[in-house]
Amino acid sequence: MTPETGLIVENLSFNYPVTEFKGLKTISFKLPAGSVLVIAGKSGSGKSTLARCIYGAETLSTGQVYWNTKPLLGPERTLMPGMQGIKYMGQDHSLLPFHSVRENISEQLPAWHPDVKTKRVLELLRLLELVTLQHETVQVLSSGQKQRVALARALAQQPELLILDEPFAHLDQLLQEKLSHYVFTRARKIKQTLVFVTHQPEFALRYADRALVLHDGKIAEFGDMQQIYNAPKHIKLAGIFGPYMLLPTQELKGLKSKKEFIFIRPHQFYPCPKGSKPHLIVQINYSRFNGKCFENTGIDKNGNAVFFYSAEALICQKELPYCIKL
Ligand code: ADP
Ligand code: MG
Repeated sequence: MTPETGLIVENLSFNYPVTEFKGLKTISFKLPAGSVLVIAGKSGSGKSTLARCIYGAETLSTGQVYWNTKPLLGPERTLMPGMQGIKYMGQDHSLLPFHSVRENISEQLPAWHPDVKTKRVLELLRLLELVTLQHETVQVLSSGQKQRVALARALAQQPELLILDEPFAHLDQLLQEKLSHYVFTRARKIKQTLVFVTHQPEFALRYADRALVLHDGKIAEFGDMQQIYNAPKHIKLAGIFGPYMLLPTQELKGLKSKKEFIFIRPHQFYPCPKGSKPHLIVQINYSRFNGKCFENTGIDKNGNAVFFYSAEALICQKELPYCIKL
């Protein structure tokens, strides 16, 4: 039997010495090498704690993390957290505050030939839009600028496993788009395993192939990203990945389901085609442009509130026939 490659988290529990947080409890999952996993959950659910535990920066109460079958050593067994081939970017950024931006980045490439190193550092400075700040001391930078330096450090080499905790949180929209595209397309290209924490559903949905949803220190969901988005086990946590509705099956004409309520995401609504029977009639309350499409809210004949998208603005108060794609 060939050994399992990738990340294995087995029975991981962790507690902070003094805190309200009840800790992480018996977390187990397997992530095949080359996959992209998003860790999601409400604020304070333990996402960052789990990311640090996976990296090996915390002493576990129980359990073990394996990378490509090798057990990761925690701080009780090694001076430097982590393992060769694994890189982690935490929310605290862990920069060298009295060194320049350039030094902070080149420090990540210790054994590189000076010419190759200079070229790579310049590439990263350009990518992260840090060229004009390269000689600044890190301690004088804004939080968004520090985050860019931290990202440059995390991306300097090509680790087999990259763990990123809220990597784009303090960046402006344009830079978020550019850098997320770079990070995730590079990961696919070099078959890197990527674990990232985010509270931004658009990045999770666009780039993750698997999701792990934490709740009260336990795994509430683990599996295929699309599956969790479209048919979550824990409806109360479904809002983490975007808006949803629970509509009574009986009130949706012609829709068949054994369940009393149907779980629906906004993209499942579509205008009823001519000649077809609508599942519901919606009276539009408002239709607002969000820069990509129109976001519409309305109410159906039974008083159920609905939310869905359209390419064109819809006329308020108008009653429109709609269908739902299950
Ligand atoms: P998330 O990333 O999901 O927002 P965290 O993993 O950062 O959550 O934190 C989970 C909980 O653990 C929070 O209640 C937080 O206050 C607590 N916590 C985080 N770091 C520490 C620490 N170093 N010592 C004690 N409690 C902590
Ligand atoms: Mg966090």
